[in-house]
Amino acid sequence: MAATLLARGGGAAARALTFGCLRQLHTVYQTVELPETHQMLCQTCRDFAEKELVPIAAQLDKEHRFPAEQVKKMGALGLLAMDVPEEYKGAGLDYLAYSIAVEEISRGCASTGVIMSVNNSLYLGPILKFGSEEQKHQWIAPFTSGDKIGCFALSEPGNGSDAGAASTVARLDGNEWVLNGTKAWITNAWDASAVVVFATTDKSQKHKGISAFLVPMPTPGLSLGKKEEKLGIRASSTANLIFEDCRIPKANLLGQQGMGFKIAMQTLDSGRIGIASQALGIAQGALDCAVDYAEKRLAFGSPISKLQAIQFKLADMALALEGARLLTWRAAMLKDNGKPYTKEAAMAKLAASEAATAISHQAIQILGGMGYVTEMPAERHYRDARITEIYEGTSEIQRLVIAGQLLKEYRG
Ligand SMILES: Cc1cc2nc3c(=O)[nH]c(=O)nc-3n(C[C@H](O)[C@H](O)[C@H](O)COP(=O)(O)OP(=O)(O)OC[C@H]3O[C@@H](n4cnc5c(N)ncnc54)[C@H](O)[C@@H]3O)c2cc1C
Repeated sequence: MAATLLARGGGAAARALTFGCLRQLHTVYQTVELPETHQMLCQTCRDFAEKELVPIAAQLDKEHRFPAEQVKKMGALGLLAMDVPEEYKGAGLDYLAYSIAVEEISRGCASTGVIMSVNNSLYLGPILKFGSEEQKHQWIAPFTSGDKIGCFALSEPGNGSDAGAASTVARLDGNEWVLNGTKAWITNAWDASAVVVFATTDKSQKHKGISAFLVPMPTPGLSLGKKEEKLGIRASSTANLIFEDCRIPKANLLGQQGMGFKIAMQTLDSGRIGIASQALGIAQGALDCAVDYAEKRLAFGSPISKLQAIQFKLADMALALEGARLLTWRAAMLKDNGKPYTKEAAMAKLAASEAATAISHQAIQILGGMGYVTEMPAERHYRDARITEIYEGTSEIQRLVIAGQLLKEYRG
């Protein structure tokens, strides 16, 4: 695998890997043998996060500020188009590398992690898989460097989990599609230069009448809603996209007419690996914070890390985290090997997001009062973790996907 990766990685990957040097790696990397390329990538991303994100994450969160400078640097490192082939200016790496990178970036700043994940998985992913050659050159290459980022608009005010009930419509008028409707909760909306949007082109076909479109931003007939005030991931923008007689060229249809729902579902399978990885990063950040504090905080004359009650918490946190990481890597490797991974991606997202919520909750408990104030990152990890159980399919929807796949396998 390492050989393939190096062969495919080429220039952009090599450029990414020259940043930083090898230091002691995380325990899990010592117990699971990763290819050297992936270990180096991990260290590169960790160094970047330590230097560029950790020092400003709290401020970005407080000011709800998009990390524009850092996103550009990530583009230069190849982190914004990780599995995109070099011919479209991507890093040419695989999904395991992508998972590792999203985790490390999210460990430093979960908002930056989701900005990266949406551009890689939700925006570039469907164009790479379903776009024509012309579309790939036009809509991928400019979104690899960090100068421009994309977004993905599936959810609507009236339907999130039930994505097949899209009420946004697109009708063909001569050589143009005309879009009308509102998309809700769109990550990166305020900072994006293009959106992959889903709209119904034939209502009678229900979810089989949904199509996907590529829309530049800004464009006449498309306006932004207010920035949502969020519990966490506050440095990433979230807003409605409002389409009012928004006209785009006929050529901006992505894939075939009526393929939109399939494009959305396949995109979310990959996206869930990204969100699982974001959750791992948040959980690792919370665990690191808790271990460090437990070693330094004295109570009754000794570090609290000597207390069995604290040790049991730390053990359970590490167990949940490493189990979720293995599930996430398995899903990524199945995708890399061209195997089905819908069930495994849902398992990874479910396990990692629930682990992140539980671990960040316990981290606050271990820090006591210091866990509750913004001087320490524990409260931010706790706020950031919560969304991973909601977007790209809630935990309930992940359970439905897992059970659905399980029963399908059983019934043959
Ligand atoms: C910060 C943020 C960023 C987001 N980014 C994006 C984005 O970039 N692009 C995008 O398209 N969307 C995005 N979303 C939308 C997100 O994917 C939806 O919020 C999510 O899918 C849930 O949909 P909903 O909010 O409409 O909840 P609903 O679908 O109304 O669900 C409400 C509750 O009912 C449960 N439920 C619903 N149906 C079932 C069922 N069949 N069985 C069991 N339980 C069920 C849900 O699990 C949930 O607990 C984002 C959301 C947030 C908050």
